[in-house]
Amino acid sequence: MSLMFSGIGVSRGLAIGEIHVLRRDGINVEARELEKSEVTDEVRRLRRAIKAARAQLHATRDSIPKDAPSDVSAFIDSHLLMLDDNALAQTPIDIIKAERINAEAALKQQQQALVSVFEAMDDAYIATRIDDVNQVISLIQQTLSGGVDPLVDSDTWKGRIVVADDLTPADTIIMQNHGVAGFVTEQGGQLSHTAILARSLGIPAVVGLHKVRTYLKSGEVVTLNGNSGLLIADPTEEHISQIKLQQREARKAARELSSLIDQASVTQDGVELGLWANIEVDDDVKALKRVNANGVGLFRTEFMFMNREDAPTEQEHFKEYSKILRALKGAPLTIRTIDLGSDKMTQSMHEEGPLAHNPAMGLRGIRLALAELALFVPQLRAILRASAKGPVRILIPMLTNRAEIRQVRALLEEVKAALDEEGIAYDPDIQLGGMIEVPAAAIAASAFAEELDFLSIGTNDLIQYTLAIDRIDDQVHYLYDPLHPAVLQLIRSVIQAGRDADIPVTLCGEMAGDPDVVRVLLALGLTEFSMPPKLLLAVKQVLIQSKVSRLKPLGQKLINAADVEGQQHVLKLMNKTLEPKAEKKKTSAKTRTRKTNA
Ligand code: PEP
Ligand code: MG
Repeated sequence: MSLMFSGIGVSRGLAIGEIHVLRRDGINVEARELEKSEVTDEVRRLRRAIKAARAQLHATRDSIPKDAPSDVSAFIDSHLLMLDDNALAQTPIDIIKAERINAEAALKQQQQALVSVFEAMDDAYIATRIDDVNQVISLIQQTLSGGVDPLVDSDTWKGRIVVADDLTPADTIIMQNHGVAGFVTEQGGQLSHTAILARSLGIPAVVGLHKVRTYLKSGEVVTLNGNSGLLIADPTEEHISQIKLQQREARKAARELSSLIDQASVTQDGVELGLWANIEVDDDVKALKRVNANGVGLFRTEFMFMNREDAPTEQEHFKEYSKILRALKGAPLTIRTIDLGSDKMTQSMHEEGPLAHNPAMGLRGIRLALAELALFVPQLRAILRASAKGPVRILIPMLTNRAEIRQVRALLEEVKAALDEEGIAYDPDIQLGGMIEVPAAAIAASAFAEELDFLSIGTNDLIQYTLAIDRIDDQVHYLYDPLHPAVLQLIRSVIQAGRDADIPVTLCGEMAGDPDVVRVLLALGLTEFSMPPKLLLAVKQVLIQSKVSRLKPLGQKLINAADVEGQQHVLKLMNKTLEPKAEKKKTSAKTRTRKTNA
């Protein structure tokens, strides 16, 4: 009889295969008192175990495929950094010496201490750090016990679906190298590093299936649906054929999408579109090139500040921007100045604890940049220097009032004057744009437009602030509604403000990369979309099959819709295909079943 389990689909895709149930969570730690003479040997034993854990992580890091996204190695690096941190490399040694207990017990004690510190901080990002602490300590415990990790050991997993208590980012890479078809964990959530990695590597994955291993045994056949979060054990022949059919359709859809790469980005009624890429590291330019994006609509520079103790120097900024410009070969690069704070914290910000009681409303984005000129000025100098090497635009995050624009402009003039004195080249006409992501800025967009060269709507934050819901708080995620009439009206008025001032308006929040809602944006008058490169072709497919003249009246209907049902009805009308009748049914079915995960 088939058994169905429902969890959280964190990485899209379908898999059919035998499962391998991984059981390695039961390392039993027994405390043992040491004789005084044993202490030195025990400290050595722990040091050796940490060294072995480090070697294991390095080996995993070396096995990352060359074309894997760079965040893949960043996760392993963060575990390597933890191994070097005194909290793991030194404190357990101090405990062994002070309390004369064995290494396993000392590690466990320190694990409990670290976890309770993190638990006291009520923050979704910190919660993922608890996973990291547990994962790194369990790796050391494993090497202490002399056991061989069953994951590293296995070479017979090709095509299997791994079912585990929890998995580390390193495990995800090892599984990819073994060719596993998908994985399931009892723990974990959307934001866990393992989930992010699974998405980057394209491994179908479902997490949060509590106690699922109680019901399953290795060798059983299951189907895994990373889109819906469903795992079906002992599936019927009919269900397997259905999944196989869906897999074939997904492969066909991917092939169809790649045929769009060189097609013009124009709607059916001749409206020209700009399709831009959001990037986070220089390596992302490769993905941008693969889909032939217009250029970079948003470079989030915060990543340059992550996983390091100090801030990047002017020269480091300059090198990074120059590298991206070389790779872009003449396509424009929009560099967003540091948007640190709130959900984008550096390591040192985390170590100092939360910045404010309510960091999303605190010193973040341009507020922090203007308060910390030692961080901001080197970046501005580097951006200006890079502008001599290719087309660069500056984008300011989290604008709230016009005074901030003026302060940035004044600072830019000072930096330009200093560069002139030093005889350093830059683009004197470099464009300055502003992120519109605070409701006040959206409402006053016409005033902002007078002082800026372009606008970029950041719907991720605009939705958060308009609806007063923390964008990373799972408990209120159900309220995160991009189609809320207030949000739609704000977006429409910003687009209109840009049009009145004759300056371009781009939208670079998640909405621009969601094929289900991009026609809504088109209806509101948007023509410039910036999104993660891997979503660009799916968005392009929808947009170039649209007619703006047909969508416009529906945009107003959507804003006026009285309830969710009414909204869904209008959305369905908007997403109706423009293909001839015979094709109609097929495409609308596809639209109905699509659901975003990440
Ligand atoms: C946004 O807020 O929509 C945006 C693009 O910026 P970020 O997601 O980096 O805050
Ligand atoms: Mg934002």
